[in-house]
Amino acid sequence: MNPSGMHSSGKNPDGMKPGGNRARVLTVLGATGTIGVNTLDVVSRHPGRFEIFALTGATQVERMVEQCRVHRPRVAVMSEPAAAKALRARIAEEKLPVTVLEGADALTEVATAPEVDTVMAAIVGAAGLPATLAAAQAGKRILLANKETLVVSGQLFMDAIAASGAELLPIDSEHNAIFQSLPRDFKGDFQHAGVNALWLTASGGPFRTWSAEAIAAATPAQAVAHPNWVMGKKISVDSASLMNKGLEVIEARWLFNARPEQIKVVVHPQSIVHSMVEYADGSVIAQMGTPDMRTPIAYALGFPERIEAGVSALELMGKQLTFEAPDAARFPCLQLAFDALHSGGNASALLNAANEVAVARFLDGSISFNAIAASIAHTLDKLADGAVQTLDELLDADCRARTVTETYLGRINA
Ligand code: NAD
Ligand code: MG
Repeated sequence: MNPSGMHSSGKNPDGMKPGGNRARVLTVLGATGTIGVNTLDVVSRHPGRFEIFALTGATQVERMVEQCRVHRPRVAVMSEPAAAKALRARIAEEKLPVTVLEGADALTEVATAPEVDTVMAAIVGAAGLPATLAAAQAGKRILLANKETLVVSGQLFMDAIAASGAELLPIDSEHNAIFQSLPRDFKGDFQHAGVNALWLTASGGPFRTWSAEAIAAATPAQAVAHPNWVMGKKISVDSASLMNKGLEVIEARWLFNARPEQIKVVVHPQSIVHSMVEYADGSVIAQMGTPDMRTPIAYALGFPERIEAGVSALELMGKQLTFEAPDAARFPCLQLAFDALHSGGNASALLNAANEVAVARFLDGSISFNAIAASIAHTLDKLADGAVQTLDELLDADCRARTVTETYLGRINA
């Protein structure tokens, strides 16, 4: 799908596990995170169907030891060298046959290893970009949770997928829902498919009903207390600011070759309708389900087969589904993302980097919630450049945006 053919791979034709009944061989980037843990939960439900080649984490040594004990990967990577050292000692103690590697290059190594056919990209932030892009260049089946990769380098990433014949299956629940609601042979041509618009649903986050004053005084603990989903801290704050929806708008633009005006956002607090496709004949096709990331993960792991995910059946009796417009005044991050998408060039990369820095500062208690949007707007104003295109230029924009945002936040905090 997309102009290149998301999921239509030259290497892994639809419906075929590589080599017929051979197990799919997986690398899980970000195995110790929320998406990683959910991925391994689905994998455990299908003995023999999947084999784990590599698991990666950053600092959580004991969780990685446990995952190695259960899943027996050939390789475990810790991006932090000190954590890798500690893991090596624990793996030796436990006498597990696992090779421990460290550093960012090792992430790319296990994402592109010839033994691997499927890569779950579930590192958080732009830190996931190099390995995810490398997996795309290597023609793997990519299960993409790491939305920041598309936000920073959408065009380049989709070009890499097209050039290598890699398969791309979205894990983000909204994009997975849209993927399920589009025709299977969708190739990024809205008119040909009779598609008018993509409707992304947003839960509205924990501050949906809060006054502007209350939001201004929100604490990190309040921001990460998402009403419907259990997620990593960064994406939880993004959900509270609606930046998560903004990042998802940009993600949808690239995944589905949508123009910005073809992407709509509607707040749906129950998180049961995961997103929708509006067709020319008036039909709206939605995907629904209990909010549980194991559904999109299982969909992508088993594609095109449906496999058991451990998710409880959707209970609709007595439920009310409601829909409302997002409030741009209390949640300015959503519009900032639309603006960045319209600007093109390095704007989305700047938006993402500024957001990562500001969210980290908010989580460590050094800035207010509203300073997140303010610092992103400041960084975009200062550094936006419509001409930027190459990966090096985008990575340079990411780097400079981090510095400018840190400086700005230091100044308003002083
Ligand atoms: P998380 O914080 O729970 O886990 C992040 C993972 O990335 C961990 O394994 C961590 O060790 C690893 N990591 C962190 N920094 C790293 C670095 N610098 N280098 C290498 N590895 C690093 O996050 P999550 O909630 O699992 O989200 C992962 C990605 O999936 C994010 O991009 C998020 O936006 C996306 N996503 C998550 C959900 C969800 O429900 N959790 C839903 C949709 C999309
Ligand atoms: Mg989502």
